[in-house]
Amino acid sequence: MRVVIAQMKHETNTYSPVPTPLSRFATGGGLPLEGEAALSAYRGTGSAIGAFIELAEAAGAQIVLPVAANAWPSGPVEDAAYEYIAGRICAAVAAGCDAVLLDLHGAMVTRTHEDGEGELLRRLRAIDATVPIGVALDMHTNFYPAIAEHATAIAGYQTYPHIDMDGTGMRAGRAIFALLAGKARPAMAWGNRPMLPHVMRQGSDDSPNRELQARCREMEAQGALCASVFVGFPNADIANAGLSAVVVTDGDPALARRWCDELLDMAWSARAAFVYQVEPLAESMARARALAEATPPGRGPIVLLDHSDNCASGGTMDTMTVLGAILDAGLTDVAAFAIFDPDAVRQMIVAGVGAQVTLSLGGKLDMPAIGLTGQPRTVSGRVRLICDGVYRNRGPMARGEMNSMGPTVVLDTGNVEIVVISNHVEPHDLAAFVAVGIDPAAKRFLMLKSRIHWRAGLRGLAAGIVECAGTGVCTSDYRVLDFRRVRRPIYPVDPL
Ligand SMILES: [Zn+2]
Repeated sequence: MRVVIAQMKHETNTYSPVPTPLSRFATGGGLPLEGEAALSAYRGTGSAIGAFIELAEAAGAQIVLPVAANAWPSGPVEDAAYEYIAGRICAAVAAGCDAVLLDLHGAMVTRTHEDGEGELLRRLRAIDATVPIGVALDMHTNFYPAIAEHATAIAGYQTYPHIDMDGTGMRAGRAIFALLAGKARPAMAWGNRPMLPHVMRQGSDDSPNRELQARCREMEAQGALCASVFVGFPNADIANAGLSAVVVTDGDPALARRWCDELLDMAWSARAAFVYQVEPLAESMARARALAEATPPGRGPIVLLDHSDNCASGGTMDTMTVLGAILDAGLTDVAAFAIFDPDAVRQMIVAGVGAQVTLSLGGKLDMPAIGLTGQPRTVSGRVRLICDGVYRNRGPMARGEMNSMGPTVVLDTGNVEIVVISNHVEPHDLAAFVAVGIDPAAKRFLMLKSRIHWRAGLRGLAAGIVECAGTGVCTSDYRVLDFRRVRRPIYPVDPL
């Protein structure tokens, strides 16, 4: 048995000015991994592709792995990058196989295609009309009909932060291997509702997504092969942005339809609870100070979330609004992770460890799609540490996968240790802090450019949490986003 396993993952923020060339799909640049290199990079990791490898090896299958391409979220994918990745997957399937297992995101927009995943699946079906195709999708999928039309079985993450990526690969992969063994006949139904759940209200530890995902697991316990609710990714101005669901049953399309509609009705009834109320930054800063004063030292940091500029939602990670407010407020014993500024990193590497520097930090990227120009800030401090920025995730999210912040410097202002990086990474793993010699548990304040994923590896440390509205293309204010292509009316942008 020959199984094609591939990965093509990108969450596209159509407002992001960060470009998405092919090199972004490879840790540390160059070409994405393939073949033996990809197998050894992902075998045994907490990823969907890792689960596919495990299932295929257990089945004694010959694995063909044409590409493992995974990029941090950013603007629309360059056509050349998409054609390279999709082309390698299509060529592998064209060479003949018994099954295809795909680790996709579900919210990929390219310069040409609004539905990157649907376009890939359409091309694969044109090559082979009958081969079983199993697909693992991110919970932030913006679902298009072509995905359901051409895939055989689909499973989406049931956790946010995403700590069940490998479990999702198992759910999709097992449905396909059961089909190959003649033990199951996947029947699928999908649907959506006109709603854009806010990312800050999507955590699966919080209601209403907690209950939605629990109902999915219950359906699987009751016999569904896979049941998934996708909360969607709203920072994408495309027709099908928003909430959707897909249910795969064993040979019962009517039941798949009924269960799918039940999930969608549940979500629609809870739509008001997916709306996020933005707190003014000045109030957040005052609350952070009060929380710290009420917290005995040693209990862990007050976490300040700069959620408008999260690179895992396509943020530039270089806006200085929240860090500037922290510096202006004179908060002490702060670690800030992180500011993306390769130029500042180069200057500090030249200055060397121990050097006192004054430089223009952050604010190098304009954001024309939301009418913002970059606002750098002059910062003085001592270069505390220089490193290559490479680390392996401890988990629980993306356990075992390699990450690269690129050349990285810790700039210590006396009050704030600022991690300055050259590649985008979201702080969701303790290993990112170990790599730069910072013990986040020992800090009074921890500023994170993150929305929900930080909870995976760091929530246990926090003595308090303050969500700080800064600036950036992950803005929590829907009024700033120009929803021109999204199907209208849609809640809560329009009255429904
Ligand atoms: Zn996601």
